[in-house]
Amino acid sequence: MSETSSELPKHLTPLPKFCQLSSRVWRILGLNPGMFTLQGTNCYLVGSGDRLVLIDCGEGIPEYIPLLQQSLQQISPNAYISDLLITHCHTDHWGGVKDVLGMDSSINVHKFPATSTAYDGQRFQEIFPSDVELLPLHDDQILKIDDNTTLRAIHAPGHSSDDCSFWLEEEQALFAGDCVLGYGTTSFDDVAVYINSLEQLKALNPRVLYPGHGPVVDDAIGKIQEYIELRIQRENEILQVILANPSKPTWTAYEVTADLWKGKRETHDIRDIHVRGIGLHLKKLGEDGKLKKLDYIDSTLEEKIFLNPWSKPEILKIVWMYTGGLKSQL
Ligand SMILES: [Zn+2]
Repeated sequence: MSETSSELPKHLTPLPKFCQLSSRVWRILGLNPGMFTLQGTNCYLVGSGDRLVLIDCGEGIPEYIPLLQQSLQQISPNAYISDLLITHCHTDHWGGVKDVLGMDSSINVHKFPATSTAYDGQRFQEIFPSDVELLPLHDDQILKIDDNTTLRAIHAPGHSSDDCSFWLEEEQALFAGDCVLGYGTTSFDDVAVYINSLEQLKALNPRVLYPGHGPVVDDAIGKIQEYIELRIQRENEILQVILANPSKPTWTAYEVTADLWKGKRETHDIRDIHVRGIGLHLKKLGEDGKLKKLDYIDSTLEEKIFLNPWSKPEILKIVWMYTGGLKSQL
């Protein structure tokens, strides 16, 4: 996500602005801490010689470029960036692209193509600078940085449709973009697609994760498994809410959210971001045949919460019926 403030949220441990993480990986913060960006967007410099690749370039905070220049100097007096790899369409990962190219216009910029049907993808195509040439990444693309550094692009959609992770062969390390974060959970665009990507990343058997936000994850497999289990757990909780209320035949994402929050949080705190996640889970349950989509929509939703296009209003307004319940009524 791209909502930011300049304050580091109080529950987070500060991270150094620049630090070395392995013999060929360094992390630079995007200097954009906030509720969704955590300590700020992580940008990584990768390579074992003077030629380095930059993975993500922050959102365009003015102090970022001096920090990047100083960091390069600290790595080696002749260090330079040959390529910039953008993990996905959210602006906190690429908003600094013009500033980076202002530093050196010969840097090649790569990104997996955004799909124009997804809201995030459409938005990206509207706001990404039209004079910056984007070289399209494809799944499994090998990027040989030097004799000791090989990156492989892995299309891992779910957080956004164009999310790419990068596999560092020599270290069995994964640059996970926003697929997996170093703290808390991340938002997702499609639950089934997202779980599938998480399974795919887990199958690589990574030794370490370098996330798009938050600290390095040393228990890579454990963290990916935790993310998968959280989605399964949420699905089970939703089904329990529906099954515990057999006299209520239909459900909306807002109603399920309010029931899940019952006794824990106030319903007036419910925001579109909360209902969005539940709505996407209901959509998956619909795809799995456990819920049936009805012909009418929740026309009262807009009175209850503010909706923006990112929150997928068309999904949140769907009214669902439990198919198990439907069968027992017949
Ligand atoms: Zn993101």
